[in-house]
Amino acid sequence: MIKLPIYFDYAATTPVDSRVAEKMSRYLTQDVDFGNAASSHVFGQNAKRAVDDARGKVANLISAEPREIVWTSGATESNNLALRGVASLYQRKGTHIVTVKTEHPSVIECCQQLEKEGFSVTYLSPEKNGLLDLDKFQQALRPDTILASIMHVNNETGIIQDIAAIANITSSRGILFHVDAVQSAGKIPIDLGDMSIDLMSFSAHKVYGPKGMGALYVRAKPRVRVAPLILGGGQEMGMRSGTLPTHQIVGMGEAFAIAKSEMTDETSNIKKLRDHLWQRISSAQSLLLNNDFKFSVPHIINLRIKGIKAEKIIESMPEIAISAGSACQSKGIEPSYVLRAMGLSHEEAEGSIRISLGRFSTKEQVDYLVDRLIKAN
Ligand code: PMP
Repeated sequence: MIKLPIYFDYAATTPVDSRVAEKMSRYLTQDVDFGNAASSHVFGQNAKRAVDDARGKVANLISAEPREIVWTSGATESNNLALRGVASLYQRKGTHIVTVKTEHPSVIECCQQLEKEGFSVTYLSPEKNGLLDLDKFQQALRPDTILASIMHVNNETGIIQDIAAIANITSSRGILFHVDAVQSAGKIPIDLGDMSIDLMSFSAHKVYGPKGMGALYVRAKPRVRVAPLILGGGQEMGMRSGTLPTHQIVGMGEAFAIAKSEMTDETSNIKKLRDHLWQRISSAQSLLLNNDFKFSVPHIINLRIKGIKAEKIIESMPEIAISAGSACQSKGIEPSYVLRAMGLSHEEAEGSIRISLGRFSTKEQVDYLVDRLIKAN
């Protein structure tokens, strides 16, 4: 018998891997390394060693240097620090920012706030397939553009933007480039040694680490600077004050190290599951795919059932965790702005569901889901 309920919402969050949880727990209690990493005594130095080790592991997944990793409370903060931190320090150089309509709310809302503060922002529309047209991107750049913020993999559709090509354009124009890599880290390779990317956001809880933990990569050479959002003891080279949460940091480090060693096999397993799922349901004529697999990570399948609202589908199978759009829009029931920006109608977006696969997904679970979807349709 299959164990219910079944989780197909890995893009919203992942469970903490038990190997990660085990390691984290060692940094909480009195026996070992609970000290403050800023203290000079042995307890503090033990904690600092653990923090440094984790910094190395996060950097290693993306071929960055440990000193380029700034700990944050999650990718929402990383995105805020990147956008508002750059806007604040580089405004004398220019006040124009370019982004895409399909970005995460933590980017879009920062841009909207910056507009209120006197910056101007261009929100580009993606093409129908979700990809950004690079000619249109180039045309949007102006002499006063200081920053472009474009995500690597979209959280609703799994669409992968060509960040290497975008980085070539921004670096040749002296424009800073920020990438939200929350949904790509640990899923597909990222080599920051090979791309001119200045800032990159990460979240631990999408990579089988703890919630409330993230990082911002801030390029060291040439040095990119961000104004801090949080002032205090000057931790993290002054970019993010606050006592470092050793257990959370250790968890993120361990999660990223596991991702580094298991990513290739894991992504290939997930691709097999995704292909199996699609092979079984593609013959159902009323099921339509919103994300072209050619341009997507295999972890996310976004589809719609003609004539049925996503809400109804989700309600009809309460033992399966899937989502309409993303969990990030806590505000309400408006259909996905991401799908709308890709040209889907209000009704089509309303009928769309996101299925996301992960480390613990099995063929048996996928078959159960397919049977239920075929029944619902
Ligand atoms: N960016 C993207 C693409 C995301 O999917 C999320 C999480 N939904 C975030 C940013 C925010 O991350 P966090 O939950 O760590 O604040």
